[in-house]
Amino acid sequence: MTAIDALLKQLGAIQAITDRAQVKLRSRDFYWYSPVLKRALKDVTADLVVLPGSEAELIEVLRACHARRIPVTPRGAGTGNYGQAMPLRGGVLLDLSRLTAIQRIEPGWMRSGAGAKLSDIDAQAKASSGQELRIHPSTWRTATVGGFICGGSGGVGSITWGGLRDRGNVQGLRLITMEAEPRAIELRGDEVQKAVHAYGTTGVVTEVEMALAPAPAWVDVVLGFEDFATAAMFGHALASQDGLLKKLVTPVAAPIPDLYFRQLRHLIPTGRHVVLAMIAPQAMEALVALTVGWRTDILYRSDRGGAEILPPIYEFTWNHTTLQALKVDRGVTYHQILYPPPNHLDRVARLHGRFGEEVMDHLEFVRFDGQVACFGLPLIRFTTAERMAAIEATFEAEGCPTFSPHVCTLEEGGMKKTDQRQLAFKREADPQGLLNPGKMIAWDNPAYDGMAGRAHLFPAD
Ligand SMILES: Cc1cc2nc3c(=O)[nH]c(=O)nc-3n(C[C@H](O)[C@H](O)[C@H](O)COP(=O)(O)OP(=O)(O)OC[C@H]3O[C@@H](n4cnc5c(N)ncnc54)[C@H](O)[C@@H]3O)c2cc1C
Repeated sequence: MTAIDALLKQLGAIQAITDRAQVKLRSRDFYWYSPVLKRALKDVTADLVVLPGSEAELIEVLRACHARRIPVTPRGAGTGNYGQAMPLRGGVLLDLSRLTAIQRIEPGWMRSGAGAKLSDIDAQAKASSGQELRIHPSTWRTATVGGFICGGSGGVGSITWGGLRDRGNVQGLRLITMEAEPRAIELRGDEVQKAVHAYGTTGVVTEVEMALAPAPAWVDVVLGFEDFATAAMFGHALASQDGLLKKLVTPVAAPIPDLYFRQLRHLIPTGRHVVLAMIAPQAMEALVALTVGWRTDILYRSDRGGAEILPPIYEFTWNHTTLQALKVDRGVTYHQILYPPPNHLDRVARLHGRFGEEVMDHLEFVRFDGQVACFGLPLIRFTTAERMAAIEATFEAEGCPTFSPHVCTLEEGGMKKTDQRQLAFKREADPQGLLNPGKMIAWDNPAYDGMAGRAHLFPAD
């Protein structure tokens, strides 16, 4: 009997999937966004999928896997796009999508099971108290809250609230360790950083407590511009309006709308650069006032009708911009760049058009360490990994750190250098290194220092 067969027998009535095709399917996430990862990870598969229905079942699974030294890779909805949830060393794919209970919705915060969908949390928070999560990824409809905090970084709402790294957004979480006798630990305050964006390498999160904000009936807006530099400057001006309640400010360069925004084509004249935004209804007058003198047209506002036939505007932003492009052209991929403030607009202007239509600009304005900054998530017509590296080097040479979406390890993605706090906590919580193995380079090679001196999106000490 193999170790997996023995494990399956021991797990008894706990829900599991053994069908090889199904197991392989669930061992995938959106890794294929990257042509590099698509090639590298195509054969990755777990041996078994286990779907615990309660924390007690989850603890049983971890205890049994620990005893047999079987790797365990947690999974929420599998929408991560760096292969975060892919089981590099096989073993058990731990599907947490059944831990959905929403336990508390209070003024300013909520607590739920890690497998709860962001959209379900918001629906319940809105219905019961007129609130919503402060930030969500553009995969709001399908992603789980546990997957977001373990694998994501920020998104819609980050223009007001910053990212997951910022104090107060993730208030607490409950995590189960991978030990002979798994422990449940409540992490609060700065301690949450031991698990936030750790790809589940430091413990399995079962419950999450996150901040809520009042939920206006957001108005989706599309503004048109004749040139991209003006669109970016307007984006900055809008992002900097502290009194104007907004959730999204996204400049997108031509020809992206013409080529890839099929559902918006009737709204956007050919050749236009756009700023996509989500604005509170009571702030629309302020937005209109802000546009005066900017040589811009409001091409669409959802409070004037037409929203019924369109997807929400955020599904053209963040990583969804790339998804819209991939629907049309599988040869396109993207990159992630920080334009550090305060000279971000100069850098945007200097780099825009440097590679012609090989690199098509897409910016996301955010609050970063309390300042307005912007990330670039440009679309790139992929040719070779070497060419991608050359493009990356050009941005780096202009003082713009890049965070590669073409690698699946925490460190190489450059989302941070080795996080010593997470590494130390892993030694305590997963002493055999069985959780999502292969994703934290420092675990296998403590001397690794590939990102020394680079900017990082999460505090590393
Ligand atoms: C079109 C598209 C748009 C996206 N937009 C954004 C965006 O705006 N912002 C953003 O940050 N990301 C974005 N992403 C990435 C991803 O969708 C989000 O980070 C999402 O929140 C992940 O949730 P999930 O439930 O799918 O997690 P999964 O992909 O299943 O898992 C993500 C990571 O967390 C781990 N994990 C999952 N659940 C747990 C748990 N309970 N305990 C421990 N570890 C766990 C997994 O092992 C994996 O490493 C986007 C991806 C796509 C494809």
